[in-house]
Amino acid sequence: MDESRAIAWLNTLTDKQFAEFFYRAVADRNTSDLPEWNGHFVLAGAQKLPDEPWDIDLIGVPANADFVDDHPICQSGTCMTCESTVRSVAKNARCPVCGADVYRT
Ligand SMILES: [Zn+2]
Repeated sequence: MDESRAIAWLNTLTDKQFAEFFYRAVADRNTSDLPEWNGHFVLAGAQKLPDEPWDIDLIGVPANADFVDDHPICQSGTCMTCESTVRSVAKNARCPVCGADVYRT
């Protein structure tokens, strides 16, 4: 598959499907250059209002893989384990940093 076809395919995915694909695609990659460290990619989203600074949050996937595919990324919360700010399509999501379940209000 060439790049333009891959991009066209990625653009057919919903936000939930794209986030799930991203995390499956990078699951075996280690981003650390030091052998004693373990690192991994995370997906982030940036958003802002006019004349306001950018907000950058990590994007998590629903803890329940059967959650609907076409829901917008409208839930936000803080992981109680690693304190990352996580946004997702579902109230119950998996933290992309530490893997803990994150519950939003
Ligand atoms: Zn976490």
